[in-house]
Amino acid sequence: MEHVDVIIVGAGLSGIGGACHLKMQCPKKSFVILEGRERMGGTWDLFRYPGVRSDSDMYTLGYRFRPWRDNKSMADGPAILNYIRDTAAEYGVDKTIRYNHRVRRACWSSEDARWTVEAESVPGKTMVQLICNFLYLCTGYYDYDSGYTPEWPGIERFRGKIVHPQKWPEDLDYAGKRIVVIGSGATAITLVPAMAKRAAHVTMLQRSPSYVVSRPAEDKLANWLRRCLPDRTAYALARWKNVLVGTFYYSLARKRPNVFKWMVAKGVRNQLREKYDAKHFTPPYNPWDQRLCLVPDADLFRAMRNGRVSIVTDHIETFTEEGLLLKSGERLDADIIVTATGLVLKLFSGMQLVVDDVPVVLPNTLVYKGMMFSDVPNFAFAVGYTNASWTLKCDLAAGYVCRLLNHMDQHGYASCTPRVNDTDVGDEPVIDFNSGYVLRAMHTLPRQGSKKPWRLHQNYVKDLSLMRYASVEDGAMDFKSRLKS
Ligand SMILES: Cc1cc2nc3c(=O)[nH]c(=O)nc-3n(C[C@H](O)[C@H](O)[C@H](O)COP(=O)(O)OP(=O)(O)OC[C@H]3O[C@@H](n4cnc5c(N)ncnc54)[C@H](O)[C@@H]3O)c2cc1C
Repeated sequence: MEHVDVIIVGAGLSGIGGACHLKMQCPKKSFVILEGRERMGGTWDLFRYPGVRSDSDMYTLGYRFRPWRDNKSMADGPAILNYIRDTAAEYGVDKTIRYNHRVRRACWSSEDARWTVEAESVPGKTMVQLICNFLYLCTGYYDYDSGYTPEWPGIERFRGKIVHPQKWPEDLDYAGKRIVVIGSGATAITLVPAMAKRAAHVTMLQRSPSYVVSRPAEDKLANWLRRCLPDRTAYALARWKNVLVGTFYYSLARKRPNVFKWMVAKGVRNQLREKYDAKHFTPPYNPWDQRLCLVPDADLFRAMRNGRVSIVTDHIETFTEEGLLLKSGERLDADIIVTATGLVLKLFSGMQLVVDDVPVVLPNTLVYKGMMFSDVPNFAFAVGYTNASWTLKCDLAAGYVCRLLNHMDQHGYASCTPRVNDTDVGDEPVIDFNSGYVLRAMHTLPRQGSKKPWRLHQNYVKDLSLMRYASVEDGAMDFKSRLKS
């Protein structure tokens, strides 16, 4: 059976980043990337809806080791996909990807100190087995097969077209059409102004509002730094500036929610002027209980001011032949209804982990440094922050994996396993978000503790010291030499 030192699962933003870290920091390690789809890029290849873009700045969503060189800081999906592809080519990790390999199961044997990884290779659906010493899952956080669509009465009666953003039809012609987008999250807020450019009218129908904040698509300071300084220095400064600004606003939102709410409402009021209606922009929860929605250069508000977009806050009574009947009695007629109702959160796309013949039950585990599980050896995963750019955390996680591997080599260890040896560590939900997609999946998720290294900080500066500088021998990580000779 083929054996490599490390198997990375997933060739998205974090899988490619993880592979580059390995190349740079563990150049002697052999590795492959197993990717279930036929292309790299993950999220940024899958999502093809109009206007798809990041809602984080690319100085923090980009890799620490490879500067973002476009003028736009909130970037379009295709530009992010190119950045991932170019990084993979530049670091030569594109050649290590095995496409159409969907990993179904990984089994750890303590006796051999190895994982046996089983992947379904398509076409033909043959099972392939590989062996590795360390398994690094970069599989994202949602179900790739389909997004979330609630069950609405009468949906089959609608005579127009229903589209989910996760499965956008390439040939969808919406020019001159009446569109209703159901949803109020990042996807809806992105789609609505983008579709309004060609549609007759777009209505965003939301059950409850989100906090919406406008930010410039281009970061003037970052672009100026790029003109004056070497690429890498300018990038590092822009990255740190955005980390600190982001951390400041997050902590303001959590500590002084009323001040933050007032600031957000003022921003929207200034944009919409006489068209402002607080009902559509006053969420029933505190800022950052759910993810904030960022709009580049106020594009949503401009489209509302021009009359091309309207927002309705109401509940669906039923679908009709012509569109929707709402609980208030209002009717929304539509040619196309877009269900921007979210993702299905599914860690590791449902693949099974087994340790010494015992299946790992995620809710029975605690997360270690937000990237490993208690009692699961030689294993790590890349899951980013909920309150900042994904890559900030995944870069730290990949760097930490490399530190662990190098430390094990130096000391002749065959395995490393986070162990809870503190009886007072607590047991709390892993995410303190009340978004629908998180609440629906909470029972499937691991848990976190109340103190480090079992606490999820959701804070780059704190994680930086914990993951880049603190010793890997921290009392919780159990290193073992090989059992079998
Ligand atoms: C529309 C959209 C916009 C977003 N915008 C932002 C943003 O602005 N800022 C931000 O921080 N985050 C954003 N996110 C979150 C986003 O998913 C991350 O930023 C990032 O792209 C995740 O990268 P990833 O590589 O970890 O996961 P993914 O991009 O999901 O890639 C995972 C890869 O793993 C593969 N895979 C999964 N399971 C298996 C398996 N069992 N076997 C083999 N291969 C497998 C998948 O096919 C995929 O290629 C956004 C998400 C969406 C959906």
